[in-house]
Amino acid sequence: MQKKHNFGAGPCILAASVMQQAANAVINWNDSGLSILEVSHRSADFENVLHKTQILVRELLNVPADYSVLFLQGGASTQFAMVPMNFLHKKMKAAYLDTGYFAQKAIKEARLFGEVEIIASSQDKNYSYIPDHIYNESGVAYLHCTSNNTIEGTEIFDFPTIGIPLVCDMSSDIFSRKINVRDFDLIYAGAQKNMGPAGMTLVIAKNKFLDSVKTEVPSMMDYRIFRDNDSMYNTPPVFSIYVAMLNLLWLKDQGGVEGIEKVNIKKANILYREIDRNPLFKGTANIAHRSRMNITFKATDAETEKAFLDFAESRGLVGIKGYRTVGGFRASLYNALPLSSVEVLVDAMKQFENSRKLEQSLQLA
Ligand code: PMP
Repeated sequence: MQKKHNFGAGPCILAASVMQQAANAVINWNDSGLSILEVSHRSADFENVLHKTQILVRELLNVPADYSVLFLQGGASTQFAMVPMNFLHKKMKAAYLDTGYFAQKAIKEARLFGEVEIIASSQDKNYSYIPDHIYNESGVAYLHCTSNNTIEGTEIFDFPTIGIPLVCDMSSDIFSRKINVRDFDLIYAGAQKNMGPAGMTLVIAKNKFLDSVKTEVPSMMDYRIFRDNDSMYNTPPVFSIYVAMLNLLWLKDQGGVEGIEKVNIKKANILYREIDRNPLFKGTANIAHRSRMNITFKATDAETEKAFLDFAESRGLVGIKGYRTVGGFRASLYNALPLSSVEVLVDAMKQFENSRKLEQSLQLA
């Protein structure tokens, strides 16, 4: 079967070797005569998988010893509510950086639990840039930011260094570049981009911050319960964790986060260069804040947009249609998308330009 070039924004492409190992494990896991889908989560074999996955997260992101690595469920969207539910204490407020669609969703949930202050927003220009975010107020429970805005195609390269706890939604760029975990008190991410298949949510949190949870929180929404039960308070998403382990082993083989970051920079540069050169396309994000994971761009008009989508699809390039509320194109260049797929896309943009030129010259003739 022909493999397509998958530029989808998530769930996204995973390496073929990871898919193959996952497929094998569904049929007969490690020659055990059992499928990974039917093993007990309390078995020693699965506990090994869980611990190995935690260790890989620690190694790949250099997670300090005083931080916990937790595997939760409910996606990043549940974190939008869980963060304020756990940390937005009475008489305090939470600060939010409003950088796009998902930041807005996080703000909406936080308002259910207390006072929210939006310290900066880029809504005035369709979230095409990262606003300045210098902030030094006291009495604030935490500052929440979104490291990569999946829909708008912007990414934060300078995180605020402040005296209050920093909470970050890293759903769409975790494991794609080096980060200093110490800059954050809590990081969360849905797994279905660079970590593995959907079903698991990664949380990395400073233990001291977790100790500050004072409110009465339902067990399944209480970070401390997951820490104290080693992410096994209830049945964890076994398959999702297993495939994440395979995928993180694959990432380690690619030279880890440092190795993949170099390739990610190269992939993004090649595509942005073509967007800037080709008169039929235009990038939508402010150049200084352009995301390396989700590259957003537009065509000169609606008819050209539709024509290029068809042109790309016929070449096996899928998933480049922009988000429904934004339009245009979005090419997601997650870790497992090979450089060669980006080259095929760039080539298609060039060929499309040439075919347009030819059509115009024939009309003139
Ligand atoms: N935050 C960001 C930055 C995202 O990209 C997404 C999903 N695309 C979410 C939150 C929501 O994640 P989930 O679907 O896992 O709830």
